Amino acid sequence: MNNMPPIASPVRTQAILNQYHLSAKKSLGQNFLTDLNVLNNIVEAAQLGPDDNVIEIGPGIGGLTELLAQHAKSVLAFEIDSQLIPVLEDTLAPPYGNVTVLNQDILKANLPDTVIEYFGKGEKVKVVANLPYYITTPIVLDLIQNPVKFDQIVVMMQKEVAERLTATPRHKAYGSLSVIVQQLTTPEIAFTVPSSAFIPAPKVDSAIVSLVPAKPEEREQPYDQKKFIGFVRGCFMHRRKSLWNNLQGVFGKKPKVKDQITTALTDLDIDPSGRPEELAVKQFVLLTNKFHELGLLN
Ligand code: SAM
Repeated sequence: MNNMPPIASPVRTQAILNQYHLSAKKSLGQNFLTDLNVLNNIVEAAQLGPDDNVIEIGPGIGGLTELLAQHAKSVLAFEIDSQLIPVLEDTLAPPYGNVTVLNQDILKANLPDTVIEYFGKGEKVKVVANLPYYITTPIVLDLIQNPVKFDQIVVMMQKEVAERLTATPRHKAYGSLSVIVQQLTTPEIAFTVPSSAFIPAPKVDSAIVSLVPAKPEEREQPYDQKKFIGFVRGCFMHRRKSLWNNLQGVFGKKPKVKDQITTALTDLDIDPSGRPEELAVKQFVLLTNKFHELGLLN
């Protein structure tokens, strides 16, 4: 088994797909990574060491899992496709005693309890994954707001989504996702990946993003996370309209409300005729808290 080529090598991946009569399921975002350089760079971006426990989302046939198992203390992988479970048992089990695969939908998993069950309390936990692209945003939003405090999240996604996560004010890609993600983490594009690195090749290029969660004391905090997200999304509802118009969309057009919006913007020294994309992340938090103080958000 140990003399086998790596699972992610193109020749072995193809052999596994043939042996188990598997064809990649588009509906589950199955694109298997077969570029060993890319895999090594992912492990490097995650700075994996022997103290790190890793959660992997969507191990597929185990290409990335194999490398994670070689570099980390232990790996807990969530795979939704039950057809892949026996494959993973075969490809990973004998040499890698530090891997557990759960046949679960990551969006329905109870991560806080599962992490304690498998890794114990107070352990270092990172997420490393080649994400299914059809649910990248819900997965990332769930991870960064999860009660589990991850040390680092290193995930492959569509390049365009990576650009939205990391965009700064006044850039085309800057929007509600950038603000929400950057309020909770520092995201960085580690490197981009051509579609030729996968079997089958996706239609889009990809990028590896590293997200380092921010300590609460490092950032201005909204009075309520859910209200903050709703407010930020409302502000970007009509990107081409002014902030003033978007705020009227969020809160309504009654004269009293208009006065409150004017008060909030004046107090925070924000130009009402500017566009939402001109505001920094901190300004969205301050506005959320100001509208809460004024009774418009509760
Ligand atoms: N890790 C493998 C690799 O890098 O070659 C496969 C990555 S593939 C892009 C995404 C994987 O996520 C697939 O194995 C797919 O079955 C799995 N998946 C899709 N939706 C999922 C979900 N909701 N929960 C867990 N796994 C999921």
